Order: sequence, then C-alpha cells, then structure tokens
Amino acid sequence: MKKALSVIFAALLVLCCMIPAFAADPSVGAPALCIGKNSSSFGAYKHVFIIGIDGVGQFFERADTPNFDRIFANGAVKYNVRTEVPTDSGPNWASMLTGVSYYRHWIHNGNSGEVRRDSSTKTPTIFCVARNAMPNAELASFVNWNNINYGMIETDIGVTEHQNSSDDALTDDICAYFDAGNQPALFFVQIDCVDAAGHGYGSESTQYYDAIHEADGYMGRIYDAAVRNGLMEDGLFIVTADHGHTIAGGHGRFSKRESLTTIAVTGKTVVNGGKMDLSTRDRDIASIALFALGIDKPLHMSSRLPANLFENTAGEPRQMILEPLDAIISPFMWIVTLFTPDR
Ligand SMILES: [Zn+2]
Repeated sequence: MKKALSVIFAALLVLCCMIPAFAADPSVGAPALCIGKNSSSFGAYKHVFIIGIDGVGQFFERADTPNFDRIFANGAVKYNVRTEVPTDSGPNWASMLTGVSYYRHWIHNGNSGEVRRDSSTKTPTIFCVARNAMPNAELASFVNWNNINYGMIETDIGVTEHQNSSDDALTDDICAYFDAGNQPALFFVQIDCVDAAGHGYGSESTQYYDAIHEADGYMGRIYDAAVRNGLMEDGLFIVTADHGHTIAGGHGRFSKRESLTTIAVTGKTVVNGGKMDLSTRDRDIASIALFALGIDKPLHMSSRLPANLFENTAGEPRQMILEPLDAIISPFMWIVTLFTPDR
C-alpha cells in the first residue's frame, strides 16, 4: 500500500514538472476567443439558475433540507460528482463556469482575487458564450465570495454583478431582483455559510449540518422567488457545491469528503429520478447550462452532457484529447482519492 502510494506520488511529481511544458504549448486545444456560435434555435429553457452552496460537497443528503427535497423531488440528483483538484473554491467554480479543467483555466483562490479577465481569454465562461449567442439577454451573478465576479466572469460582457457578505441579505437582494421583473437567461449564485462552518467545525459537526439547513432556506427562497415571477415555467434550476470538508474542517486535498460533490437539477425536461452517469464532473455544469439554453458548446470545452439527465437526450463523450494534462493527472488523482483514508 505504502509502496503503491510512493509510486503514485513519484509519478505525480514527474507530471508536475511537465506542467509548464504542456501549459506553454499553444496548440493544445487552443480555442478561438469566446467562440459561442450564434444559435438560431434556442433550447427548451429560457432561464438557467446555478445555485452554488460553497463547501457542501456530497453532504446535502445527510442534512435536514426540506427545500432541497421538495425542489428536486421530481428532478435528477447525483451526490458523488468529482470536483477539480485542488479541492478549493477557485478551481471548481471556475471549472463550472468555463467547462474546462483546472489545468486549462489555472484560476485559483489567489489569482481570482487579483487578476481580472475579459472576453479575450482562451477559457471563456458560459456567461461569455451566452453573451455571444444572446447579445441582449440579461445575465447575472450574485455572490458572497467576490472572487467569482472579480476574477472569473469577464469584465466586458455586460453581466449584472452583485456582492453581499451576508447570505441572508444576498438572498433578499436576489428575491428583490426577480420581483423587480428581471428575467435573466443565466443566473449564478454563491452562498457561503456552509464553507465557514466547515472550516470552523468540520464535516461531522452539528454546526456544519445546521449551516446546510440554513443554506437550504436561502435556496428555497430563491426558488420560490423564481416561481412566483414565472421564471420556472421555462427555467432549469441547478444546485451544486465546489468541494466538501474534512472531518477536522478544511479542504484542498484528495479525500472523498473534499473531492466529491453534488449536482441536483430540476426542470420540465429533466429525467425524474435521473442519476446522471459515473463520469459526471462538476465542470459539466457548463455543458448542462448551454444545452438548456440551446447554445452550442464551444469546441475547446471538455465538459460534457451527462446521460440520464434530460429526457430523450444521450450523454456526450468526454473529449479527453482537449485536456492532455487532465487526462494524465486526473486518473492518478482518483487513485490517490481511493487510497486516502477518510479524514
Ligand atoms: Zn469553496
């Protein structure tokens, strides 16, 4: 066991040394800039809501979540979706928004608070892709952790951005935004209270599960505001998380508690009780959102549409060739996860 682990770590070390070589190769799946193609036939949905509950990982299932339960009673839910490693917020929110692995976007907690991005990026967000396809659509991102608005979403594509350091007040702001008649085609939310409890008390604590219950209340209010404003008639509602927490509290590494997360989806064409498929990753939220809006996925994205999610819709193959680093590192990471004791 120890020998196997040392071999894996040695291999990883070699791979890490190769990263700059790969990263410097512009021929590796280099996309045209912000290349969402104009789509004349839009999809089944006019509104896609992505509600990110920071730090919940796979643990919705173990908390008292009456809103999650009612919202997704007829939806598709998967609790063991693989995240990006490092299992941190920056890499994972960025992969969901860009549809590529961490080894393509290289966005982490540090640089997302320092470096702004615009539409000249080679790894555009789904906001940028949606903007190209829908020049006049309302697009919005309401977050507690401002790095998402500051360092992930492009500055020059007209996304309505809002930040509030209180989840409760942020939820009020979101409800007021819907009640004022705004009808976003793409709407992203990040709620922070669970991550704070995870850092403070760990993923076996009462405080952690109380915080998931609290976040469930915010999610319910956001959903109800969307419903009462008619946005869910053609709306797809997604709840997810960027990573989980260890028993002691914290994240960033390989354990299942850190590196498995949830994707829950409801909408009029979602398979009732759909479980998605084994290879579903959190970055696939990019494909799910674009598919729902009827926007062609840019060719450089390695996200894919999971099977058993939308009615009469097959899953897509993952284009591993687009992500040579991820194709090599990710299986090693998964082996390490499988060998990492519960922590
Ligand atoms: Zn996080």
